[in-house]
Amino acid sequence: MLTLKQLLVNRGRPGMHRAKVNPTNSYRMTGVVPIPMANSLAVRFTFNALTDPDADTYTTLMIFHGLKMSTTKDSEHPLGFEVRGRDIYTSRPSFQATQTGVACECLDYYFTWGWYNAKNTGNNAGNDPEPYPNYDSNYSPHRNRLAIPGLCKHLCVAAVYLSEQGFLTT
Ligand SMILES: [Zn+2]
Repeated sequence: MLTLKQLLVNRGRPGMHRAKVNPTNSYRMTGVVPIPMANSLAVRFTFNALTDPDADTYTTLMIFHGLKMSTTKDSEHPLGFEVRGRDIYTSRPSFQATQTGVACECLDYYFTWGWYNAKNTGNNAGNDPEPYPNYDSNYSPHRNRLAIPGLCKHLCVAAVYLSEQGFLTT
């Protein structure tokens, strides 16, 4: 399983259908919900499209694996969460080192990334997606001609957000 940094680098590799990441003008993040699990931490993001008020809301998921958990806060376990009335503290996930499962409900994730995230590196969070339909030459195989795992724009924005908030270490 790859780290967020490895997934982010893949998105911009030469040969991918597009390298630019300019997402802030078309939608906004409306929710961030951390969900502690056994030795891992899921974070669920919600995005709304700005261009169309009736447009779909996308749910985007990251799961950081192999974190240390504690019932007391200390320098090793600085992130605190309440789970069923109990306080849980975790180590901080690392952008470069923490294996991170990802998923998004958007079409770009489905058509470009989900299948390869699931089959190449086990980075898809949740159920394996269907292989993308091969009905349109605009989508397949040109949409991910390197057949590599990576991130949609929502996952890119979520990664940057967590870094800027100090949630992720480098
Ligand atoms: Zn997405």
